[in-house]
Amino acid sequence: MKIETGSEIRVLPSREGAIAEAGKAGAAVHCGKTSVAGSVSQRACVFCGSRVVLYPIADALHVVHGPIGCAAYTWDIRGAQSSGPQLFRNSFSTDLQEMDVIYGGEKKLARALDQLIEKHQPKAAFVYTTCIVGLIGDDVGAVCKTAAAKWGIPVLPVASEGFKGTKKDGYKAACEAALKLVGTGDTSGVSKHSINLLGDFNIAGETWIVRDYFERMGIQVVATITGDGRVDDLRRCHGASLNLVQCAGSMTHLSRRLKEVYGTPFNKVSFFGIEDMSAALYETAKFFGDETMLAKARLIVAEEVARIYPQLRAWRRDLEGKRAAIYVGGAFKAFSLVRALRSIGMRTVLVGTQTGDKDDYETLREMCDPGTIVVDDSNPLELAKFCLEQDVDLFIGGVKERPIAYKLGIGFCDHNHERKEALAGFVGMLNFAREVHASVMSPVWNFVPRRSRRSLHAVGAPAPARGAVDAGNAGQPATHSRKGAA
Ligand code: SF4
Repeated sequence: MKIETGSEIRVLPSREGAIAEAGKAGAAVHCGKTSVAGSVSQRACVFCGSRVVLYPIADALHVVHGPIGCAAYTWDIRGAQSSGPQLFRNSFSTDLQEMDVIYGGEKKLARALDQLIEKHQPKAAFVYTTCIVGLIGDDVGAVCKTAAAKWGIPVLPVASEGFKGTKKDGYKAACEAALKLVGTGDTSGVSKHSINLLGDFNIAGETWIVRDYFERMGIQVVATITGDGRVDDLRRCHGASLNLVQCAGSMTHLSRRLKEVYGTPFNKVSFFGIEDMSAALYETAKFFGDETMLAKARLIVAEEVARIYPQLRAWRRDLEGKRAAIYVGGAFKAFSLVRALRSIGMRTVLVGTQTGDKDDYETLREMCDPGTIVVDDSNPLELAKFCLEQDVDLFIGGVKERPIAYKLGIGFCDHNHERKEALAGFVGMLNFAREVHASVMSPVWNFVPRRSRRSLHAVGAPAPARGAVDAGNAGQPATHSRKGAA
């Protein structure tokens, strides 16, 4: 990305409907669509969506049927942890080559499955189809069926050809594959006060933190499906009384299907930030209608908050009025981050997601302060434009947003799966605030060009108004200011 002074970063006309401003009336945000051609989307492909969800099932074999490049991004760069098997950290690929594309890759896949199952003795295997497999038409389902019969374990195809939709379609394909395991295990010993955790990926051990709170309340956690997951837990998770869905974008489909098939109700929750973590504990206790459980939840919240509050208050004094940009995968995390930032004195001035829906964006427009930019399926140029216009002090995102922030001279906080720090639960809120404080308050930002220019204006010429854009990019077809885009 080349940032020049004196010109303006522009938005593609076809992207304007995907951008809105909080506090202003306007049409619903365009979302849930495939990315606009010419816009280098921040969104990952269908395959990546599937892989993200199923990968933390730690005792399963994960085989990527496709060229090696598809497997590269997911090779052990994610922070999901396992308390036992480490098989999931390997990313196996059939490494399809030109001749396989011409003659078909089924035999290669069959050989790979035989070799891997014999060597690693997994509890189950997931086989992910990629773009090229969709094009050449390998019958992955038939190969999986043969391998399952030969080895006596579930071998599940995941229909995740990268081109066939959005990342959300990948989530759906993963949910359908996982569903095939549910209901095949013994539910004896499952308590009536029991839950499953869906959509928590145990990044840096977050599932363990949250699980501990629920167990202290007297609740049995049957399966932590997408974080420190186990095949046998998934098989019996239909015995639980309630499903808690933390990453609603990825796991709503599975929770809906579990309700349809097994009648298990679900609640959408978030474990990020004091408010949302507390609400998740209280609402779960209320679901079971147990006063003792509710009292335990209150005690946990009181103890945990008392432990972290003095430090949060000290950091809040420094952070009061600082401005944040958020760009994350799912909207539920965005809601939590807006609230968590507010609790430490910061204002969200730009918020976007890869997979939000119409209702999610309405909620964001309502909960954010007037003037906050709300955007679906954004790209580096738009994010750069809005970060500069909104003069943000901090960007919260993932691996693809980090270089945007650093190139613009903006502090960055990783809230995606690559991070190695737990940000969920009460202790996670303390870690989050510590990282935000260290990033925002670092003196290094006083020396980056946009800030040092402002310092020069302060001693000489009039300062540019907050919101003025002074960075640009050549090559976009039309010019649209933020106001025009909204
Ligand atoms: S599945 Fe397709 S879009 Fe996804 S990484 Fe592979 S080639 Fe790229």
